[in-house]
Amino acid sequence: MLSVSLSRLQNRVLALARFGALPGGGVTRMCWSPPYEEARTWLLGELKTAGLATWVDPAGNVFGGLGVEGLRSATPVVLTGSHIDTVPEGGILDGALGVLAGLECLHVIRESGTRIARPLAVAAWSDEEGRYGSLFGSRAFCGRLDAAAIPKMAAVDGDRLVDAMGRAGFDATRATEAAAPRGSVAAYVELHIEQGPRLEEAGVPIGVVEAIVGVRRTRLVFHGQADHAGTTPMERRRDAFLAAAEYALKARELVVTRGGPRAVTNIGVVQIHPGASNIVPGRAELVHEMRDPDAGVLERLARECDALAREVAATRGIRVELRPMSATTPAPCAPRVQSTIEAACASLGLASRRLYSAAGHDAQNLAGVTESGMIFIPSRGGKSHRVDEMSDWDAIERGANVLLHTLLRLAA
Ligand SMILES: [Zn+2]
Repeated sequence: MLSVSLSRLQNRVLALARFGALPGGGVTRMCWSPPYEEARTWLLGELKTAGLATWVDPAGNVFGGLGVEGLRSATPVVLTGSHIDTVPEGGILDGALGVLAGLECLHVIRESGTRIARPLAVAAWSDEEGRYGSLFGSRAFCGRLDAAAIPKMAAVDGDRLVDAMGRAGFDATRATEAAAPRGSVAAYVELHIEQGPRLEEAGVPIGVVEAIVGVRRTRLVFHGQADHAGTTPMERRRDAFLAAAEYALKARELVVTRGGPRAVTNIGVVQIHPGASNIVPGRAELVHEMRDPDAGVLERLARECDALAREVAATRGIRVELRPMSATTPAPCAPRVQSTIEAACASLGLASRRLYSAAGHDAQNLAGVTESGMIFIPSRGGKSHRVDEMSDWDAIERGANVLLHTLLRLAA
């Protein structure tokens, strides 16, 4: 039975981890940054070494093809992939595993001379982590990118997407041209670390994803009044930070009590202006994110949180601005892809369990254009988006072999 080379996969995982490596472990490799661009060049080299055709689309997505040199071929392609960008101070496996395992699968299929009825390709989607826009590359590929929004897309620090892509040699305004022709993808399957504790706790080696959560991000700007922090009487203060703080606590309560059992919420960005200990905060900005696998629940929570922000601001006599940043739709995975993954597991003698993904993934965009699915492997301690994110190498090998046999079945 055909199997991946763990040592080759391991070497590539460790080689990719050097781009943007941090002294204490982990990696910061945000999309379009110099370490990302170096990693992208390295990846193109590895794809060529594996004997694959390579191409890069106008959204910066990198592809390696076996039996195909682009997505205009008459026979629809079976696609795999993930992303090689990371969050700041992220781990070495989130995204990287799916790209490099996909590359290894195509490498071993080509080397072995295994006959496949459909062409195969592996993709590295740009800006999955959303420094400039969540799931950017796969959105462009799936025709879900709004051309009018591109000039306004920017990172939290204000760096504009058009400038970042320009530095990397791309014209961001042409990213929508990356949209794949209708019917050009036969199926999509992505291998990823679980990024949560469920598989490890259950002692199950493989997760078969049933649905991927939708993620909504909103920037809330509370406009109060900056004042002298010593001389302004307490009752006259219009403190923007206190409004933001009240919202933060009440929004959490709202999502936990009014959301579904899987709803989660986070406020990970807080900025206070002018930001001095002797000035009453005149302006406070929050980025509020929430997730749920049910589209209806997610929309209702978003509406209720918006209403809450207005209510908190009104009772404190200040103004709030609500700026939607991004919203991804929850996506169910294709039953055929799920059952194919399970059949691959069975053929390898591996137990599997169905679960939903609490993290957003490129596979949710692909679900809009083809039959899409995901394979999860356990994350050590359930840790992810942190420098000590890791999975056991034998778990990685098992996941890569499940991907290999899923791809072979989908391409048969
Ligand atoms: Zn990821």
